[in-house]
Amino acid sequence: MDEVRLNTVVFDFDGTLARLNIDFHLMRQAILKLIGRWGITPGNPDVSYVLEMIHESETLLSSQSLHDARAFSSEAFRIIESIEIRAAENGELFEWTRELFIGLHAANIHTGIITRNCTKAVFTVFPDIANHCDVVICRDDIERVKPHPDHLNRALIQLGSRPCDTLMVGDHPLDVEAGRTSGAWSAGVLTGRHSREDFIRSGAHWVLNRASDLLETIRP
Ligand SMILES: [Mg+2]
Repeated sequence: MDEVRLNTVVFDFDGTLARLNIDFHLMRQAILKLIGRWGITPGNPDVSYVLEMIHESETLLSSQSLHDARAFSSEAFRIIESIEIRAAENGELFEWTRELFIGLHAANIHTGIITRNCTKAVFTVFPDIANHCDVVICRDDIERVKPHPDHLNRALIQLGSRPCDTLMVGDHPLDVEAGRTSGAWSAGVLTGRHSREDFIRSGAHWVLNRASDLLETIRP
């Protein structure tokens, strides 16, 4: 990382800055059950992420009834939000997260967070987030979430930063994908559920044990 000059770091939230305790398996099962109850047959069995499953099912339903599509979607989001908020109430930031932001700002690095989690859950875990991070864009703030490039691009516009000066940091290969599709640098961190090999396979430029390692390696 020494050879690259960066002025911006955008982080994922769960598993990157906060302990990951969302039960994605439970979430997925609950949404699959809901999809079954609505009699929807997903067109693309490869769609594995919950938000994309909801979106695809909503689109399928909307071809028959806009009313049904909206009813399905609001029920689906109620289910996942209740799981996210319960996880947030029992969740916590990593002990070094606030220090990390303080250190980055001292090095004149702009900071952002982009997350597929809902605003309420993120602010439950990190109530003073606005004192630490320049831009926070949660699922509720944007139509197309990462890995769609809109999510990171929106953060960069708000920060006034260029992708080539930006590092995207996350605990999931989709964070690496988000960085790549926007033309940013990317680093995987091992504080979630993915291994070094997963990140190397997904094309991450760097793999760090944890996000706070940036303080030792980043050069403004
Ligand atoms: Mg994450």
